[in-house]
Amino acid sequence: MRTILLGPPGAGKGTQAAVIVNEFHIPHISTGDIFRYNIKQGTDLGKEAKSYMDQGLLVPDELVVAIVEDRLKQEDCKTGFLLDGFPRTANQAEALDNVLRNMKVALDKVINIEVDKERLIKRVVGRRICKECGATYHIEFNPSLKEELCDKCGGQLHQRDDDTEATVSKRIEVYLNETQPLIEYYKDQGTLVTIDGEKSIDTVSQEIVAALRRES
Ligand code: ADP
Ligand code: AMP
Repeated sequence: MRTILLGPPGAGKGTQAAVIVNEFHIPHISTGDIFRYNIKQGTDLGKEAKSYMDQGLLVPDELVVAIVEDRLKQEDCKTGFLLDGFPRTANQAEALDNVLRNMKVALDKVINIEVDKERLIKRVVGRRICKECGATYHIEFNPSLKEELCDKCGGQLHQRDDDTEATVSKRIEVYLNETQPLIEYYKDQGTLVTIDGEKSIDTVSQEIVAALRRES
């Protein structure tokens, strides 16, 4: 299974990615997670990425494409992968097509998760992430059993630096300008499936898994 999760910040891509990779036994490649890992490690890449991320801007295409290209060439991507948060621009989508063409493989489906703007802001501002295992919660819509602690590993929950109201509005604007046009791009390729992301987490998961299992 070779697939992409497309959707604005807060649509539920990371939440659903956890379910899909478990169901289809494929690696989860989140460019946002790769940047956050590099920030934590204090690498040059992390420092450069952070300067864009904190402003709600996209990291330049050359940096992102090189990282994804390297990652897709690794052994565990031979039988499939889930891309989460990549591609985000027309340049990135074209670069990905080239990489896949050179690897002689093709995308099976692109899952486009749709959610209304007001709801996106509430979701992003209330998002909490486990510092240890990266599991995602929401203070209202998907709370952990013990406040501030992860149900899965007991790790401390925290808020991402870029999950502020000001930054999320910018990120949504950037999504509308740069990423939303990819919906047409993948519709033209015949791989796009649109899912209503406003339903419950479980219902959205069931609909995505069913769409990925369908032949056409
Ligand atoms: P993305 O990766 O697209 O930015 P996330 O998966 O991190 O989005 O989800 C954003 C926030 O919304 C998280 O706090 C998550 O718990 C919550 N969330 C995700 N899907 C749903 C849903 N279907 N209903 C309500 N809240 C959701
Ligand atoms: P995410 O974790 O997907 O919400 O991404 C967090 C931030 O990382 C984004 O707001 C961007 O600054 C940066 N980022 C992640 N993926 C990409 C990408 N494909 N292209 C450019 N910037 C990205």
